[in-house]
Amino acid sequence: MNNIRKRNESKRIALVAHDNKKSDLIEWAVYNKSALARHELLATGTTGKMLEDKLDRPVKKMLSGPLGGDQQIGSMIAEGKIDILIFFWDPMEAQPHDSDVKALLRLGVTWNIVLACDRATADFILTSPLIQEEYKTIIPDYSRYLNRKLHK
Ligand code: PGA
Repeated sequence: MNNIRKRNESKRIALVAHDNKKSDLIEWAVYNKSALARHELLATGTTGKMLEDKLDRPVKKMLSGPLGGDQQIGSMIAEGKIDILIFFWDPMEAQPHDSDVKALLRLGVTWNIVLACDRATADFILTSPLIQEEYKTIIPDYSRYLNRKLHK
């Protein structure tokens, strides 16, 4: 049986950008400042500090990504505390925390959240009518996995 997670009109948006992508994300956020104003923002440490500075508004900051911030955001996704993840990861450079990057993307899909990894998709998300409406996310049915029989 699928579960439903209700997303309010005001969304909880997590923002993460690798170093080579930070200027891209900041530029996007500044351009969309008024559209973002009605939503709650949170971010990994360094991205969050830069956003707070440029947007002149509070952003809830996690630890820096490689120091655990990606995992903090991943755990919030699993707990249903994040509605949208804007994650500008760098396809051209290996990261010290590649395993965390993969884990964060995996949890985003596991919990069927709205997920953008590039600016074009982020634009489509922010201009969708659903951004301002209540939305019911269908969570895949994991009951078979949860109730699987294990041999002792
Ligand atoms: P940062 O982390 O915002 O602290 O730089 C981003 C990341 O996950 O690499």
